[in-house]
Formats: sequence, C-alpha cells, structure tokens
Amino acid sequence: MDTPSEKKPVREIRINPVVPSESVLVATARSMRPKKEEASAPHDSRPHVETCPFCRGNEDKTPAPIARVPAEGDWSLRIVENLYPVLGDDREDPDLAFGLQQAIDGYGRHEVIIDHSSHGIRVHEMTEEHLALLLSTYRSRMDQLYHADDRLRYVLVFKNFGPAAGASIGHTHSQIIAMPVVPRNVQAEVRNSAAFYLARRHCIFCSLIDEALTFEATLYDRDSGALTRRIRVGQYVIERSSRFIAIKPFASRFEWEVHILPLAHCADFLDATPEDLADLAGIFRRTMARLNAVLGGAQYNFFVHSLPHGEAYAESAPAFHWHIEICPRTSIPTGFELGSGLFVNTICPEDAAERLRNVALGG
Ligand SMILES: [Zn+2]
Ligand SMILES: [Zn+2]
Ligand SMILES: [Zn+2]
Repeated sequence: MDTPSEKKPVREIRINPVVPSESVLVATARSMRPKKEEASAPHDSRPHVETCPFCRGNEDKTPAPIARVPAEGDWSLRIVENLYPVLGDDREDPDLAFGLQQAIDGYGRHEVIIDHSSHGIRVHEMTEEHLALLLSTYRSRMDQLYHADDRLRYVLVFKNFGPAAGASIGHTHSQIIAMPVVPRNVQAEVRNSAAFYLARRHCIFCSLIDEALTFEATLYDRDSGALTRRIRVGQYVIERSSRFIAIKPFASRFEWEVHILPLAHCADFLDATPEDLADLAGIFRRTMARLNAVLGGAQYNFFVHSLPHGEAYAESAPAFHWHIEICPRTSIPTGFELGSGLFVNTICPEDAAERLRNVALGG
C-alpha cells in the first residue's frame, strides 16, 4: 500500500530522557491511528469586541488591576485577579484532612495576564518588542509572587489558547498560578535531573542540547581550510538563536510539541536577563509562526518550567535547566492514553521537526 516516497511506519516506545517514567508510543502506521483529530476552531481575529471584559474600554468589568504596563496612558498589558480562581485566599476551616485522605489547603494566587490590548491577536502576530515585554512581565510577576508569601512553593506561568486547550475567554491571555505545592511533573524533572547530575556531573538538558547540536555539519574548503558552509542537519533542532534553541523532543507526547531552552545553563527563569528575553521573544515568535503555518491555526498550551524556590531545591541549580514547553492540541486523549499514562504520538518527531524547520518565515 505504501508508495515508495512514503516513510516507513514507526512503532516504538520512546523513553523520555529527563523523566523515564513518562514514555511515549510513537506509532505512525495509518492503521494504528487511534485518535480523533481535534477540529480546528475558527479564530476570532477582531481587534476589539464590545462585550469582552478584557478589551480596552471595559476595564471596569474586571477586578482592579494588580499591575498594568505602562503605568500611565493606554495599557499594553494588564494583570488582574482571576474571577474563578482554582486556588485562592485562606479558607475559614482548612483542616478537612482525615486518615489517609490528606489535603493541603488550596491556598495560592491565580491571576490573569491580559497579553495584549488587541482581542484576537495571536502570539506570532505580536511584535517582538511586545513579546519581550510579556516575557519580562511573566518574570517580574513570578518574582513578586515568590517573595509575597513563603508558603508558596511554585509559580506556574502558562497560556491556554483555543477552546481545545481550555481557553474559556477569546481575548488573548496568560495565567499565573502560585501554589503551595510543587507540581508533580516539575518535581519529577528536578528529581531526575538531580540524579543525572549526581552520576555524570552534567546537566541533562545541556547534554540534550549538545546531543542535538552534534548533528550539525560544517563544511570546510579542502585547500584553504576555510569554512565554506554550515548545514544544520540536527534532526530535532527546529531553530537556534544566539541564546536559545527550539527543539522537538525525541519522546514528544504531543505531535507538534516543541521545547525552547536557553543555550547557556540556567536553572531559574528569574535569572533570565533583558537581553535573554529579547532574544527569546524572537525565537518564540518564530516558533509559534511555524506551528501556526504547519497546523493552519494552532490551539495550544505553553508553560514555563523553572527551578522551584526554597532550600530543598537550591542544590539542584546546577542540575536543572529552565525551559518553555509548547504543546499544540491536535487530538483528544484516548482512553488508552488516560488509562495507561502512555501518550500516543502518531507523527514521528523527526518528521515533525523537519516540517517545522522547513516553514518559510517572512520578515
Ligand atoms: Zn477582548
Ligand atoms: Zn543545563
Ligand atoms: Zn518541563
């Protein structure tokens, strides 16, 4: 049935190098396609929507802002309290735990960052200046929250875009949740990278970057020895900027999942400099443009993974490496995935990386 040009089907279980307990079944054979494709939702690109509480002119429909940028005049972005927080202020009677059923009070903060004044603008359509401003707002608000209350263990910054990714409001926005526990997946990443560091004296994320870049081919002139061409053939590398790299993980859970990491070792997103964030804004925008081009409008989640604060984590700074994970939603998890915890990826990560890399970006 296969035409000669078609690639051989892949069917293998790939172990996540950072968190080995998270495996992915890469199964590209057509007959194996177990998933329902998520229909791409029509995108509302209007710059202003009269009834939207996040649009300019409707500021009275949200709680008073925690912050706005700039402080005066028309705002570029605002931070407000989430009206339906998943975590909130102290309850009256936090002591509900009994026996084996232990609970930690759901204390925390849940805030919304209104990313942009334009209602329907997508990340890849924002200017790099604006994206740098957004990233530095993530950074400064994380910093403030970590220092606001020492019961807070982790500050998660994330964005849901599109109904399939859980966004309930159409206006572009991100969210910050400061929580009294470190999320299990962050803990697993920190614990495993610390174990790797103990054994190899090297950061596993740095090792993965080195490995990805090993596939770079450099051609020299035979006579003069001068460098003639450098070909980036790294099969998992989507793009490299001066300070960051966008990689398609070898064991990607989602078909179009992409991670962006600083090239230089750095554990804590709070240590990113303004120059880092300006560079990140560029590679981030281009990565989102690639995803948008390949997927024809992407619904996605992205989130920042950074070293948790607190004494227990300080010694993991040489082992852990902050990163952004971008997870486009193109299919609905099946019972097999939920029941087994084994993600099924129906597109070979190498092929996905190639398609993303080959997107011609204008500008
Ligand atoms: Zn709006
Ligand atoms: Zn590192
Ligand atoms: Zn991560």
